[in-house]
Amino acid sequence: MSTSKTKNMKFSTLLLYIGLILTGSKTLAQNESQPCATEEPHFLWEEAFQKLIHERLASGEETKKISNQYVIPVVFHIVHGGQSVGTYPNLSPGQIQSQLTILNQDFSGNSYNASDYPANAFVNWAASQNIPSANLDPNGRIKIADFNIQFCPATRDTNGNPMSEPGIDRINYMAKGWPDPTQFATQTTMKTYLDNVVKPQSVWNVTKYLNIWITDKSTALSYAGVSSVPPLSGLSDIPNSATATTDGIWCFSKAIGSFALFPSGSYISQFIDGRTLTHETGHYLGLRHIWGDAACGNDFCADTPPAADQNTGTPAYPHNAGSCTSPSLNIDGEMFMNFMDYTRGPSKYMFTTDQKTRAQTAMLNSPFRNQLGTHDLCDAVTAIREVQSGENIRLFPNPAAGILRISAGTQTIRRVQILNQTGQIVAESRASEVSVDKFCTGIYLVNVQTEKGIFSLKFSKL
Ligand SMILES: [Zn+2]
Repeated sequence: MSTSKTKNMKFSTLLLYIGLILTGSKTLAQNESQPCATEEPHFLWEEAFQKLIHERLASGEETKKISNQYVIPVVFHIVHGGQSVGTYPNLSPGQIQSQLTILNQDFSGNSYNASDYPANAFVNWAASQNIPSANLDPNGRIKIADFNIQFCPATRDTNGNPMSEPGIDRINYMAKGWPDPTQFATQTTMKTYLDNVVKPQSVWNVTKYLNIWITDKSTALSYAGVSSVPPLSGLSDIPNSATATTDGIWCFSKAIGSFALFPSGSYISQFIDGRTLTHETGHYLGLRHIWGDAACGNDFCADTPPAADQNTGTPAYPHNAGSCTSPSLNIDGEMFMNFMDYTRGPSKYMFTTDQKTRAQTAMLNSPFRNQLGTHDLCDAVTAIREVQSGENIRLFPNPAAGILRISAGTQTIRRVQILNQTGQIVAESRASEVSVDKFCTGIYLVNVQTEKGIFSLKFSKL
């Protein structure tokens, strides 16, 4: 071996070590056998994020159970090789829509399989750790959280023009002169291809849209998703910071969508439940892996029991009880049903309240998150509109004294907001009944959000 070659090898070994120090304890090779390639956040990022979380908790917003409602416009950049719409990897609108349905269910605490949550899940552990009642459900279990964050397909593109297919931007990589995504066989080369070619040439304003790129991939890559972590002000120079041209999520096309909701799509067997994007969107909103990327590591959520390592497959509850003794003895085992674990899609159905706090903190503070949903880019859903004849959206009884009922005809009620005459929100609900008996007498505005828009109605309180 020549001297210069030896020197080069030493130099690359040095670079590898520097890379490991900067990116945490996992090597790239290990990551490649995992479903997710999101980098562990830098400790300086977590330090700054913890400060913001504590400010939020100190403000009392969490304890008052007030959290902002967000509807994030989403664009799926579908990268294909000239196939017709509906032919892999140029996915059909139905497959994309099934993915959005899963995402909205998962982030609102209404996952399709949440009823699998065992009746005694983590009850003993929660009691032993004095987990606050706000984080528990009426059974004393760790509560399945509703993030108050929803996702809508963008109806206007980055230039303000109406989109022919809401939420979908189709890109023929050959017409763009880009290489075929399947020729990148390592995590490093794929990342370089995405960050240096695909994303900068196709990204939509990251302060307005959640950008999701979906492509085919080399069979040598086992992971199916990777996300950026929400950037924080003043921390732009830490390693792996997302930029205005790289922020967002990448997913393998066959991991997008739900086979149950859209059976005629293109899927790969281990990723047919749409949970790859749920997991990556968790990272996009500041969540960490449930095992803290270390043996009994820290995910900075007090209401998730410690876990010795990632879980895979389809475990049964209780799983690995006693696997960690610190920071607490996980007497009820590990929370393998959390979306931030690596278990198979059907085994997962929950986020927790502390994870919600992280997501709400990211939405409030990250410069690439805090304007999302404020530009009316999904106006079919978020614009306030008049009730059309035949839509049958109404309030009754009106005037009301005790219970106000909301009927939306054939539409689904997504959210109800009641505002007083000064415009303050005095009640919020997803239900079709709201108790108004404690309201002062007077006229109130009621915003009823359905899949067709927000309808403004009035009622008077007796
Ligand atoms: Zn992950």
